[in-house]
Amino acid sequence: MARAKQLGRLQLFDQALKESFCEQVQIQQDLRQALARKEFELHYQPLVAMETGEVRGAEALLRWRHPRRGRLGPARFIEVAEDTGAIEPIGRWVLETALYQLHLWQRRWPGLEMHVNVSAKQLLGGDLYEICWHQLNRYRLTPGTLVLEITETSLLEEIQVVSRLCNQLGELGIVLAIDDFGTGYSSMRYLQRLPVQKLKIDRSFVMDLETSRENREIVPAIIAMGQALDLVVTAEGVETESQRRLLKQWGCDMVQGFLYGRPVDPHLFEQRYLRINETA
Ligand code: C2E
Ligand code: MG
Ligand code: MG
Ligand code: MG
Repeated sequence: MARAKQLGRLQLFDQALKESFCEQVQIQQDLRQALARKEFELHYQPLVAMETGEVRGAEALLRWRHPRRGRLGPARFIEVAEDTGAIEPIGRWVLETALYQLHLWQRRWPGLEMHVNVSAKQLLGGDLYEICWHQLNRYRLTPGTLVLEITETSLLEEIQVVSRLCNQLGELGIVLAIDDFGTGYSSMRYLQRLPVQKLKIDRSFVMDLETSRENREIVPAIIAMGQALDLVVTAEGVETESQRRLLKQWGCDMVQGFLYGRPVDPHLFEQRYLRINETA
């Protein structure tokens, strides 16, 4: 009896594994066509100054309108794209699209920043510098308004190569931000050595500020460290008023999260977050 039950469970597990494997293979195949079929879109989430509540910029977040599965978030396909190399053309499309959008927005809001996520594969892949150089010349954006977000862990891969590239990007006037800070292992020395100007505290630390005493120790420590190194500190994933209050008390510079606004399409972003600034 017990054995039959166990076997049943094993079969279920096996079934689930097969399905998830098939899904991955399917996604991998569909990804090849997705760019040509124009299935990708960027949504934008506001980045807000803590002191004034003003929207200073947008983070571009990739979405895939899958023909059968509906709209997929990056968690469902970025890793596959990295493994297959599809991330290179997709990453180029993301940069081109986000910078064109920034160019349009900067005609009316010249200081607006655009944050674009860049994966380790793109950093090591080769033509990131050329793409940025080309797009920056093409659109004549306000210097210092393109921010590349790089996760802590990808900075640690092949440190020599990455640090040389980061310096070259810095010379183009591109600002670098460490994304998901606190989830990797950056040392202070390391932060000093790379031309990084911003740091984003990972959502997992912000999420349970109200309930976790530990996080109420860690977060102000990260903010203080950021200030000591002259970095602009952003907290991700701010959802509640009490999180906001704590972060403000600790001197966090920038905030991002559902409390201020969800990622939305460019039209809505402009309506909701940019025009508001003007009338206020
Ligand atoms: P990330 O760069 O840390 O982006 C923040 C993620 O947190 C986004 O998820 C955003 O929708 C979500 N978020 C923001 N505020 C809140 C909040 O208050 N509560 C909750 N629960 N979530 C919040 P998303 O869009 O699913 O993106 C996930 C990750 O995928 C991103 O994390 C980034 O690492 C990666 N990604 C997104 N777009 C791109 C891209 O164009 N290229 C690359 N290479 N990676 C991307
Ligand atoms: Mg990011
Ligand atoms: Mg992040
Ligand atoms: Mg994050």
